[in-house]
Amino acid sequence: MLAESDADMALLRFKVARERELGLGTQLLDGAAVRDLGPYLAGHIQGAAYLAQEGHANPRILTDAFATEAVRHGAQIRTGTRLVGLSMTQDGGYRVLLQDAGRISEVTSRRLLLATGAWTARIAQMLGLHVPLYPVPLTMNVTDRTAPFLPFLIQHVGKRLSMKQSEDGNLLIGGGWPSRLARNDTGAIDLDRPALPDEAQIRANLAVAAGVLPALRDRQLIRSWTGTTCISTDQLPIVGMIDAAPGLYVAAGGSMFTLGPLLARLLAQQIVAGDDGPEAMAMFLPRRFNHLNAFTLLP
Ligand SMILES: Cc1cc2nc3c(=O)[nH]c(=O)nc-3n(C[C@H](O)[C@H](O)[C@H](O)COP(=O)(O)OP(=O)(O)OC[C@H]3O[C@@H](n4cnc5c(N)ncnc54)[C@H](O)[C@@H]3O)c2cc1C
Repeated sequence: MLAESDADMALLRFKVARERELGLGTQLLDGAAVRDLGPYLAGHIQGAAYLAQEGHANPRILTDAFATEAVRHGAQIRTGTRLVGLSMTQDGGYRVLLQDAGRISEVTSRRLLLATGAWTARIAQMLGLHVPLYPVPLTMNVTDRTAPFLPFLIQHVGKRLSMKQSEDGNLLIGGGWPSRLARNDTGAIDLDRPALPDEAQIRANLAVAAGVLPALRDRQLIRSWTGTTCISTDQLPIVGMIDAAPGLYVAAGGSMFTLGPLLARLLAQQIVAGDDGPEAMAMFLPRRFNHLNAFTLLP
């Protein structure tokens, strides 16, 4: 994580100290040490936080790997299937209506987990429940291939930047730059259609990247794409049971590519044991938003 100014360095010092306090082996590097590690980085970089164990993974490979393992453990995966209805059964369970190419089927269960990202609030609304998660449309960019030179995930402490090189040599550049949510004819946000890229945001993202990696100016941008993630009111993921709806669990929020596997493991323990899970999970529980459902009558 790079620093370009004195203010960046102050923030980085604080972050590194906090991480070391918590047992991580993060190191604070000065400008010379940064250039030793990454001679391709711009000469004005003042310093960096370096964590040798930190890295990146390819979601297209990792998602398939998780799916394959889940099936091996007995999960059934139905792709192209949409949840179109959610209600309660008389004995306090949940009835889910699924639509697959015009065919509707029904599943009932005592326990249900909504791991539906930016669409979670909309699905919880089917039960009249409020889950304060809001859609965040973002953009990623990829350049043409070049010989492998960047083994690190590069971020910036004061600017929106994430940059890494794929095994094939392409540079992937993002860092939280917005795209535009699609809208329907009435101007309402349409979460069923992909968000639209915004050229000015893409240019700004690439300018930040080229500012720390000058050789980027010799590369061609070959593709930009959007995706929609979500953010909660307090920016922490919302993971655990909704108290107003016993047996209904939620797991959604930002940075879930990084945090998802860990939170999923802890949530699974919580669901099986029927408790709040380890103390470390307390800050993620939906309970912090119980006031939003104080007036909800479940169907
Ligand atoms: C451009 C971009 C860059 C990002 N970079 C990072 C990063 O570097 N690190 C990081 O940690 N995170 C990153 N994120 C965030 C991360 O991608 C998300 O937090 C993560 O994908 C969330 O995973 P999820 O499984 O909870 O939700 P999602 O991946 O959003 O999956 C939700 C699923 O629910 C499905 N669904 C919704 N409604 C229904 C319905 N009615 N019926 C059936 N299915 C439904 C959707 O189709 C979707 O497949 C990025 C996000 C974007 C968009």
